[in-house]
Amino acid sequence: MQANLKTPVTARKAQLFKRLQELGARLEAIEVELDSHQNRDWEDLATEREGDEVLEATGNAGLTEISQIRAALKRIEAGAYGACVRCGEPIAEARLDALPWTPLCRSCASWQP
Ligand SMILES: [Zn+2]
Repeated sequence: MQANLKTPVTARKAQLFKRLQELGARLEAIEVELDSHQNRDWEDLATEREGDEVLEATGNAGLTEISQIRAALKRIEAGAYGACVRCGEPIAEARLDALPWTPLCRSCASWQP
């Protein structure tokens, strides 16, 4: 049981699925945008390349987040959601509100390289 969680785990699950859908749609849009840049003239390329780097960075951040969300959904299935994967302490509710997919409590996250 998720004893000390005020927000029911089903609500977190819904939150995570919604975020997954948003990210999926955003990544799809980025891919379409990047593909549309394939057949341009040379003059456009330099300026467009900068934009593409931003798009790619956004895409990569999205992919990282998606894998974190999938991992969080697995922890929900395993009944381990809401506990820090490193120290086992409960993750603060406010932190889960802001980052529902986070695997770490605040003090462990600040030790991240
Ligand atoms: Zn921790």
